[in-house]
Amino acid sequence: MKKIYCLDIGGSFIKLGTGNGDGLEEVGTIATPPEYGAFVDRTAAFLETNGFAPQDRLGVSIAGSIDADNGSVHAAQLPFLASVDFASDLAAALKARLGGPMGQAIRVENDADCFAMAEATFGAGRAFDNVFAIILGTGVGGAQVYRGALLRGFGGTAGEWGHGPFIQKQDPSLPGFVPQFACACGQKGCINTIGGARGLEAMHAAAGNPMRDSKAIIDGWADGDTGCAATVASYVSLLSDALALTLNITGARIVPVGGGLSNAPALLSVINGEVQRKILQPRPEPLVVKGQTGQNGGLWGIYAQLLREAGGPNEHDQP
Ligand SMILES: [Zn+2]
Repeated sequence: MKKIYCLDIGGSFIKLGTGNGDGLEEVGTIATPPEYGAFVDRTAAFLETNGFAPQDRLGVSIAGSIDADNGSVHAAQLPFLASVDFASDLAAALKARLGGPMGQAIRVENDADCFAMAEATFGAGRAFDNVFAIILGTGVGGAQVYRGALLRGFGGTAGEWGHGPFIQKQDPSLPGFVPQFACACGQKGCINTIGGARGLEAMHAAAGNPMRDSKAIIDGWADGDTGCAATVASYVSLLSDALALTLNITGARIVPVGGGLSNAPALLSVINGEVQRKILQPRPEPLVVKGQTGQNGGLWGIYAQLLREAGGPNEHDQP
């Protein structure tokens, strides 16, 4: 079997893993270069240094939405990717270094899609055939894997439960009022505007509290601070409304959670309880659970996708 090379590209670091069907080895990390030319060149050099050959498979997990028409990536942390075809430019750089064209096109997938593949194949969802994975990170992401396959949908938008005007206009004088914050997608009141760490902080400030970071708000909630408790109550209420609707539509059996807020077990437990209470068919086991592939979900997810394309994962694989 051809060797599989997996890159996970984030705003600060680029991680590399390699595998041959018997598991993924996490090989190393480099800092993400700040400018596009250096970014392509150093990524190609990183692969060459670690033995990449033109016949090997290469997959990339990247934080951002990928344009299905031209391969450009809209990534908030890496704005220089917005107007380029990263996969073609990386293939050209590798061809120049290695002296021959690549055997197969580079596979580029969004990080939420990779996290869902990782969890469905190797993580918390591996016992279930219908997995809806969510990321509660800076903002909100999501993706569904059904019987081992990623559901893509029109324009690759399947699973994007964080977008669409969801938060309704209310009387600002009522307790629990949450503003319709503007979303990067162009709508207002998306779950993406309140469901991640920045959203939790924005809700807390909009309620008249001093600015605090998400960890301080969650810690304050645990310590009985009334302002933090009110913010977390509004957060859990809105998030579980949207997630319950999503689960009634998708019928998913389990929801592995990734991103920074997945590291707050008490918060996940409360979200799980509220979602179970709001869905048509409560699931027999805990439904909203911390993902098991953690910081390397991107690597394991693109690995799972390439393995699937090569004929399926090996039972010995483990994250
Ligand atoms: Zn949106």
